[in-house]
Amino acid sequence: MRKRPQHSPQTYFSVVGNCLQVHGQPLTALAERAGDRAFYAYDSEVMTRRVQELRALLPADIELHYAIKANPMAEVVAHMAGLTDGLDVASAAELTTALATGTPPTEISFAGPGKSATDLRDAVDAGVIIILESSTEMHRVAALAAGTGRRPTVAIRVNPDFELKASGMKMGGGPKPFGIDAEQVPAVMAELATLPLDFVGLHIFSGSQNLRPEALIEAHDKTVELALRLAAAAPYPIRWLNIGGGLGVPYFPGEQPLELAPVMANLQGLLGQIKTGLPQARVVMELGRYLVAEAGLYVCRVTDKKESRGQLFLITNGGLHHHLAASGNFGQVVRKNYPVCIGNRVTGEVHENVTIVGPLCTPLDLLAERMELPAAEIGDLVVLFQSGAYGYTASPHHFLSHPPPLEIFA
Ligand SMILES: *Cc1c(COP(=O)(O)O)cnc(C)c1O
Repeated sequence: MRKRPQHSPQTYFSVVGNCLQVHGQPLTALAERAGDRAFYAYDSEVMTRRVQELRALLPADIELHYAIKANPMAEVVAHMAGLTDGLDVASAAELTTALATGTPPTEISFAGPGKSATDLRDAVDAGVIIILESSTEMHRVAALAAGTGRRPTVAIRVNPDFELKASGMKMGGGPKPFGIDAEQVPAVMAELATLPLDFVGLHIFSGSQNLRPEALIEAHDKTVELALRLAAAAPYPIRWLNIGGGLGVPYFPGEQPLELAPVMANLQGLLGQIKTGLPQARVVMELGRYLVAEAGLYVCRVTDKKESRGQLFLITNGGLHHHLAASGNFGQVVRKNYPVCIGNRVTGEVHENVTIVGPLCTPLDLLAERMELPAAEIGDLVVLFQSGAYGYTASPHHFLSHPPPLEIFA
């Protein structure tokens, strides 16, 4: 008996003649274009479907932003700019990418602790919403504006006094480098009112990669409660409220896709409270991985196959240096396998238990450990699903100086 995969991200990708298709093209044709290089392939149609599926349930009054650090490839960002209401950036280079899409600066926000002088100057010049992460940063922005007659648009990032429970990455609650502790925010807002800054509102981001509706609902309730509490102490009305995101995608065996309906129904209810308490506020939800992770594949080629003391190994031209998260070294406590298939042999009569590795001289260079897959040959294509976010740019390409992967936007 072969075990069935417990969840099937393949639902977004069709198979023709046993070969995975990417936006109507056989994977083998994309691999031919890539030559002897491993590559990421991003399917724009899958991104479009993801946003449509989300929008069908997201309250119409909530604006959807794309956090471009999840996947900053210019073509991806341009496509996402067309599907969403705005972009979130975290560096001067990401800001350049965002502006190149034609997105109005008023719909771009710039977050991140420790923004450099270049980051802040570019943000002020562009006129985007600068998310202040500390009191020092507030004074730096004010100093840039001094004597220019300009009033840069700013919001305050609040480190909330609660956590997003069961979150893959906690970004708020307790001591954090992100934002200003909720209890310090009233004093910072009072000082802000004396500076040449245009205060538009608050950014409250509690965490990322969450698959539990009840945890997200609790975080959203507490986010709105905190926003209303802080608004009472604000010197100006809140015109912009970024409630963060945190919607997760399933990566590992046993994980199920997030059930959106209860989360979105709860947000609809919270909008009533926001409209009463913060009548001027635009409400923004910002998402990275939820919008793009499922649309991306990482593809590498089998270059060798061998057995060592009873374990079969597939050695490939890709690995940890291309896809750190799939190797288990990007914030995972226990390494688990991403969903994998053999792209040119999606089903097969004979299965083998294989461990898939890259060419690096380290045991950390693992792409899949002891997985049952159709028996693969040298030259076959190993595909890792759920690779559209935190893949290419979140990996140490220079480690061992092998060629970096290509990126193909389809
Ligand atoms: C990273 C980040 C995001 C995106 O998180 P995802 O898990 O990719 O949705 C959103 N907002 C802020 C402030 C971030 O730092």
